[in-house]
Amino acid sequence: MRDPAELSFEAGQWVSVPFGPKKVRAYSIASTPRSPGRLTLCADVAPGGIGSAWFRALAVGQAVEFKAPFGGFAFRRDDPRRPLFVAEEIGIVPIRAMLADLDETGFDLHATLVYRGRDRSWLPYDDELVALARRRPGFAYHPLVSGDVTAAVDALVADPRDLVAYVSGGGAMIDAVREGLMARGLDRKSVRWEKFW
Ligand SMILES: Cc1cc2nc3c(=O)[nH]c(=O)nc-3n(C[C@H](O)[C@H](O)[C@H](O)COP(=O)(O)OP(=O)(O)OC[C@H]3O[C@@H](n4cnc5c(N)ncnc54)[C@H](O)[C@@H]3O)c2cc1C
Repeated sequence: MRDPAELSFEAGQWVSVPFGPKKVRAYSIASTPRSPGRLTLCADVAPGGIGSAWFRALAVGQAVEFKAPFGGFAFRRDDPRRPLFVAEEIGIVPIRAMLADLDETGFDLHATLVYRGRDRSWLPYDDELVALARRRPGFAYHPLVSGDVTAAVDALVADPRDLVAYVSGGGAMIDAVREGLMARGLDRKSVRWEKFW
């Protein structure tokens, strides 16, 4: 980055890329605050609109303009409850940033991630998450390429009342997971979410 040379942000926050008056696209920062001079974004270009076209056309070394940081989907380290992360496809990006940040800073990671994609190639960061689960016995990684996310969450979580959920992806998945957890006793405020589409 050149101007400013560094960006201070929390893992899970996003940048806003302008495409004209009142027209922007949001992209979560995939990298962690430990590299404030170099941000990584990760995009699914399948939606095919202006944001996707912009990503496809980016050339190495090209200057880009954006505003940042935005958003409150950030991990709360002082929350004693066990985190449950649920991601759908490209919705993994802010959760990947949180997990990498916790790992880099030596946080005692006791968490579960359920990560749904239409097949394994739609699970960016899958290899890295597999490696993280190997290195960190307290981190349970559950990639899912068939079946229902809510059923997987139900099967994995014995009692949701002592957890905090971080859910990211499409609105339908977020609603279903939230409803499922609330039906089993979790309060609405304990489900934190980032809606990509
Ligand atoms: C807070 C936030 C963070 C985001 N972070 C990222 C990110 O890190 N990476 C990223 O790729 N996108 C991210 N998005 C989505 C991104 O802002 C754009 O919506 C996306 O790139 C599509 O833009 P587009 O102009 O190509 O398509 P649009 O014309 O905006 O969308 C076309 C259609 O596709 C739907 N859609 C958009 N994205 C998806 C998707 N991934 N899967 C299925 N349907 C979709 C839209 O709802 C719309 O109906 C984020 C969105 C928000 C609100």
